[in-house]
Amino acid sequence: MPDELFQRYQAAHRAHQTHAQGCTTCTDQARCRDGGRLWESFVRLQDAYLQRKRRR
Ligand SMILES: [Zn+2]
Repeated sequence: MPDELFQRYQAAHRAHQTHAQGCTTCTDQARCRDGGRLWESFVRLQDAYLQRKRRR
């Protein structure tokens, strides 16, 4: 059964990784505006996913 939240969390992770690999501004310590936005949405989805897992 496809887990939509998990898929979105994985997609956000990939989107951020792809950006970070092609971006000359983003580092582990600092992120550009686009990178920061992608990172935040990844963190939000990850939190939601982990919280839901914990509740079960
Ligand atoms: Zn960037």
